[in-house]
Amino acid sequence: MAVGLSQTGYLSEAELRDSPGVPSEARRRRGPVAVIECTEHIPCNPCEASCRVEAIAVGADITNLPRLDEEKCIGCQSCVPICPGQAIFIVDESLPDERAAVTMPYEFLPLPEQGEVVTVLERSGAVLGEAPVTAVRKTERMDQTAVVTIEVPRAWSMQARAIRLKR
Ligand code: SF4
Ligand code: SF4
Repeated sequence: MAVGLSQTGYLSEAELRDSPGVPSEARRRRGPVAVIECTEHIPCNPCEASCRVEAIAVGADITNLPRLDEEKCIGCQSCVPICPGQAIFIVDESLPDERAAVTMPYEFLPLPEQGEVVTVLERSGAVLGEAPVTAVRKTERMDQTAVVTIEVPRAWSMQARAIRLKR
């Protein structure tokens, strides 16, 4: 059996590739799209209800893995703070100069500020490098979860999954 989430605590490249929630590279290049990194068959489905364009399907059996319809997804970010597993990201590989935007849930305080340079981490917690924060969204409806966007080299778009403040 290939090494993955159950052994390491984080998703392997193979697990991501096989996930029904991960959009194609071609779709990511066209603009913002959800990347649903949910690969355990747990009873959960708020992501499905949060999507007003019905781009996420879990179905009647709520232990099904969420399936993304990459053509329906408009990258609106509504599903990101809703997921209790913090498993949904928005990736936009359409930026010029081989850059990408990665949007992620963030549940720590203080919040980062727009323009602040932060440390970027992989799923494993390993440091990828540094990146500027380009947006921070927080609303009452989101409870304790903010949604933070960073701009990174495109090569990091499927690796950059957390940030750490430098202050
Ligand atoms: S980003 Fe918006 S459109 Fe895309 S799956 Fe999430 S809620 Fe639906
Ligand atoms: S809300 Fe999150 S943890 Fe629950 S099924 Fe959707 S992606 Fe998975």
